[in-house]
Amino acid sequence: MKQTGIQRAESHTVIKVRIWISHLACLGVFFVPLTTELLVACIAGYIWRVLAMELAAHRYFSHRAFRTSRPVQCVLGLMVAASGHRGPIWWAMHHRQHHRHSDGPLDVHSPVTHSFWHAHMGWLTLAETADTDLDAVKDLSRVPELVWINRWHMLFPLAVLVITVLLGAYTPLFGSTGMGWAAAIWAFFVPTVLGLHAAFAVNTLVHGRRVGFFNRRPFDTGDTTTNSWLLAIPTLGASWHNNHHRVMNAARAGFYWWQLDLTYLTLRALQAMRLVWGLQVVPAAVLAEGREGRQRQQQRGTAPTVGVATAVAAATPGRAPSAVVQMQQPPTPDQRRDLAA
Ligand SMILES: [Zn+2]
Ligand SMILES: [Zn+2]
Repeated sequence: MKQTGIQRAESHTVIKVRIWISHLACLGVFFVPLTTELLVACIAGYIWRVLAMELAAHRYFSHRAFRTSRPVQCVLGLMVAASGHRGPIWWAMHHRQHHRHSDGPLDVHSPVTHSFWHAHMGWLTLAETADTDLDAVKDLSRVPELVWINRWHMLFPLAVLVITVLLGAYTPLFGSTGMGWAAAIWAFFVPTVLGLHAAFAVNTLVHGRRVGFFNRRPFDTGDTTTNSWLLAIPTLGASWHNNHHRVMNAARAGFYWWQLDLTYLTLRALQAMRLVWGLQVVPAAVLAEGREGRQRQQQRGTAPTVGVATAVAAATPGRAPSAVVQMQQPPTPDQRRDLAA
């Protein structure tokens, strides 16, 4: 398989149709039965898909916030694809671009420089965002199995759908046999679509929001990121996004004990099982900076804010130094060795 240049995706019409079918299928909840087993499968499926996005696609493939073995890396890549988040290399390519140009004109899913719906999911339906530039994500593109998963990403959710329907139709796993349609809707389409919107919400509900009760902003990161405590549970910690833009290669996005970060807790459990290691930490100086920012916010009743003009300027060389310092770092020699092992 070619490992440099542009890896062509399926046609953007196919992508659009897939998005429409997935959303329309969710309306099936009004026509099929719901059992306790299906509800459990739906919730577990949602958690699985958000972990695929936040733990695998985001913290591992985009930011290399921890290290792991090559087999586990392959499993993480399969998780990303099977959960409907497209290929892991495609995801990391767009996300690293997001951090380089956060809330600027080159940030394809910023609600500051684009409309809300474009930033939420419209950008996914454009032909120009579908392909993967393998040269832009070289550390991942030189791993053949990741390139292969990235190319054939659409086969994995399809396989999950077929297995789910067969389990529903021919086994009593979801309460009784003959539950193929109910399984497809409750155990596949609903958790898949909700999992996608959890990822989209990080783009649109914590970027470009007003600072206030729901959205806090302890760090001046040169963009419009905020921390949303309300979304911390449904996004499994991804909504501590102002923190994340401050130290983007940290394994935790919830920096303090009271910032619930379920993805980080999952990583700690995987670390205890020796499946992952080398979790990147948040420097003590940054933790102190965040406490100061929070105090400032409480004293003034406001936080370091940034207007649209500043956010757009963030895409230019004049952006805030703190944001520049925390740009995506190239992989360390240890990480390179893990990848190619
Ligand atoms: Zn962001
Ligand atoms: Zn990120």
